[in-house]
Amino acid sequence: MDFALNDEQRLFRRTLREFVDKEIVPVASEWERTGRYPAEIVERFAELGLFGITVPEEYGGLDLDRVSFALVFEEIARGWMGVAGVLGSHSLATWMIAKYGTDEQRARLLPDLASGARRTGIALTEPAAGTDLQGIQTRAVRDGGHYVVTGTKTWITNARHADPLPVLVKTSRTTPAHKGMSVLLVDPASEGFSIGRDLPKLGYKGTETCEVVLDEVRVPVGDLLGGAEGRGMQQVLSALELGRINIAARAVGVSQCAYDAALAYARERRAFGRPIAEFQAIQLKLADMATDIQAARLLTYWAADRSAAGAVNAEAAMAKYFASEVALRTTMEAMRVHGGYGYSQEFVIERLYRDAPLMAIGEGTNDVQRMVIARALVSGEATLDW
Ligand SMILES: Cc1cc2nc3c(=O)[nH]c(=O)nc-3n(C[C@H](O)[C@H](O)[C@H](O)COP(=O)(O)OP(=O)(O)OC[C@H]3O[C@@H](n4cnc5c(N)ncnc54)[C@H](O)[C@@H]3O)c2cc1C
Repeated sequence: MDFALNDEQRLFRRTLREFVDKEIVPVASEWERTGRYPAEIVERFAELGLFGITVPEEYGGLDLDRVSFALVFEEIARGWMGVAGVLGSHSLATWMIAKYGTDEQRARLLPDLASGARRTGIALTEPAAGTDLQGIQTRAVRDGGHYVVTGTKTWITNARHADPLPVLVKTSRTTPAHKGMSVLLVDPASEGFSIGRDLPKLGYKGTETCEVVLDEVRVPVGDLLGGAEGRGMQQVLSALELGRINIAARAVGVSQCAYDAALAYARERRAFGRPIAEFQAIQLKLADMATDIQAARLLTYWAADRSAAGAVNAEAAMAKYFASEVALRTTMEAMRVHGGYGYSQEFVIERLYRDAPLMAIGEGTNDVQRMVIARALVSGEATLDW
């Protein structure tokens, strides 16, 4: 059993770490507070090739192994979880296009998406359907060489920058519902496509999250992902599996940042004539945080590593569920260690505390993860064997 990163992964992490420490950490809190779009960071993502992390090399991507994929999100989220969102749904969508797209779709879209010349996201959720994706209302009706798409999507990250935007639609009313669903790669310049509004959020700033309105948008049949109707649900569910590893890794990064800040503060802050780090109550918090974070990290790398070999429904769900709960606990504990300063916008903890809950919601709520895990265990699809 080998718990170490290989040389290539270690080197890659060092590059990421230096980039995050130098170019993200110094500006994160200020830019998130003022609502400034992190254009310079996005530009650097492109220079570093990070828009191509799930794109095959033949299309100009980095085609990272899954553990390195997790390292990208862990390190960036350690600096600022919000900007990790710029790469998150983009990477899921590019993975989906690389895996399921036709040769023509891959050749047409992937080189620009890998370089960051074009960006993307993924539009599944609707005002009345999130967890229950089979309940979506967005319809695509065939009309000659086009689909005519009507519906509203909500909570769509990167919506203002996505070109194309993969949209989950119903192409037929077949039962069961999942067999009538497809993904269309929608050009945002199409007539009838508009951004309804930017949604106000607790945290996860630095990337926009919007309502998207599709009013009789005409989408060429050639933009049906994979060229065959009825495969959309399977395509997005397998992308969400990768998404859970991305969220787990972000949760580890946020937790690590909270722990680092708490440890540094505990060593420095004095009460009753000594550093608070000498009080056992503070030490117990640090011990719990460190143990939780290492367990979450190992579970995340384990799920990531196993995902390279095939479907990891339960493993990815375990990692996402556990790591995001750890982020909730760790950011709260770090706030306690900071006392009143943890509540101040002048310290990083307040931002981490606002960013953590999204990871318990996005890519399937944690109750849904628990149902996924339980179903896999009961059916025998997953066991606790190695
Ligand atoms: C900041 C942010 C960014 C997002 N970005 C994107 C994006 O880019 N693209 C996208 O498509 N979506 C995105 N989402 C949407 C996100 O994926 C959904 O919010 C999430 O899947 C939950 O769906 P919902 O909000 O409709 O909640 P609901 O599905 O209405 O769930 C409400 C509650 O009911 C519970 N529940 C639902 N069904 C069951 C069940 N069968 N059994 C037990 N409990 C159940 C849930 O666990 C939850 O506690 C984003 C959300 C946020 C907040």
